[in-house]
Amino acid sequence: MADSEQRNEKDKPNPYDVALVQLDKAARVAGISPAVREILSQPKNELIVNFPVRMDNGEYKMFKGYRVQHSNILGPYKGGIRYHEQVSLDEVKALASWMTYKCALHDIPFGGGKGGIKFMPRQHSQAELERITRRFTHALGANIGPEYDIPAPDVGTNGQIMVWMMDTYMNVVGFTDKNANRRVVTGKTLVSGGSLGRESATGQGIVHCIAEWARDRRFDLNGATYTVQGYGNVGSNAAKILARTGASLVAVGDWKGYIANADGINPFKLADHVHKTGSVVGYPGTRSITRPEFFAATADIFIPAALEMEIGVEEAKALNVKLIVEGANGPTETAAEPILYDKGIALIPDILANSGGVVVSYYEWLQNKRSERWDLEEVEERLAKRMKRTYLNVSEYAATKKCDWRVAAMAIAIERIGRAYAERGIFP
Ligand code: NAD
Repeated sequence: MADSEQRNEKDKPNPYDVALVQLDKAARVAGISPAVREILSQPKNELIVNFPVRMDNGEYKMFKGYRVQHSNILGPYKGGIRYHEQVSLDEVKALASWMTYKCALHDIPFGGGKGGIKFMPRQHSQAELERITRRFTHALGANIGPEYDIPAPDVGTNGQIMVWMMDTYMNVVGFTDKNANRRVVTGKTLVSGGSLGRESATGQGIVHCIAEWARDRRFDLNGATYTVQGYGNVGSNAAKILARTGASLVAVGDWKGYIANADGINPFKLADHVHKTGSVVGYPGTRSITRPEFFAATADIFIPAALEMEIGVEEAKALNVKLIVEGANGPTETAAEPILYDKGIALIPDILANSGGVVVSYYEWLQNKRSERWDLEEVEERLAKRMKRTYLNVSEYAATKKCDWRVAAMAIAIERIGRAYAERGIFP
């Protein structure tokens, strides 16, 4: 696609700066101690590894991998692994901190971490991806572990990559308790210890939030319209599950371009098209539109499900929707928020909206620990209950404190973290 079809990286604010502004706003509302705010402003550990991998042509190439461990005051570090050409230390730091707040918001006994490798996975064969993944896992060594730091899939990674990480970790750390180590990663394939319902969990959680929002406002989703940016795990699952309510997908885009059809796009057939071709572009029966046209499209709901900092001031001015549900982590820059609120657009923030993934990752981890396999209904019921409860907590907190939902969700999270520090103290 033309360069103008992607937001210029130079126009995007540093995501870690954005995360710090969000922390400050929430800290003021939550009233946590300056010491806790200070601790949360930096991750506990930042690891960078450079490692060589043999390519299919026999040559060796160096790769740069990251793992940032933001906080483990509430439990082991937890968070995804990203394979993308724009991965950077500050991006991973921001993503790790949002994981801390996401787990704390749900009262899940995990902390926050994130990792990634800076490269373009599309340019590599499966065999190269396997060697890159195994070599990275080996380089991380004992810096990950089932009770210490537990990775999961994120942009550019999937269940197969998690299984390669698990297998490498198991083979490196020892044989006697091999099976006790399956839960070193979550988001695995079913046969290798994954949970039913994990793959669609983030999308399902998004739809629980939308359904709660619609119920509270007596808004009929049947016949409503939505747009989605990013059609990977999160975007495609959210689109497919939302379609069950009778809502209609009218515009969608990904790394390659944007398409629209006011009469509706079949999200299931579109997912098959993406599976075959690698992009939404060229899906039959749709017209190609530009990125600015996508952001200006009229719809009831917009689900950003691609990368962070995609909604800047220009995009906020253009958006013509009632509700934004942040499937992506950090998709909205700080300067865009007042513009959205002035226009009366509601926003369900990332740490609530896309938290279904980590909730079911926690269930996967529990199932592995107990050598159990829960059926799909059980996973889905538990997820629904937890999402609805947390949604209500955020909604009530925002109403009581008269703050926006991002501040409310972050404030609930850091109040919990603040209480843990108050009880435990800071060693020594
Ligand atoms: P994915 O790799 O499965 O899909 C990413 C999608 O974004 C793809 O469709 C890709 O083409 C698109 N994309 C990439 N660069 C783009 C660009 N410049 N412009 C437009 N589209 C672009 O990743 P995913 O797991 O679906 O993650 C998407 C977002 O959701 C990320 O922000 C991730 O951190 C967040 N998230 C994922 C999970 C999860 O369970 N996978 C959980 C919570 C949050």
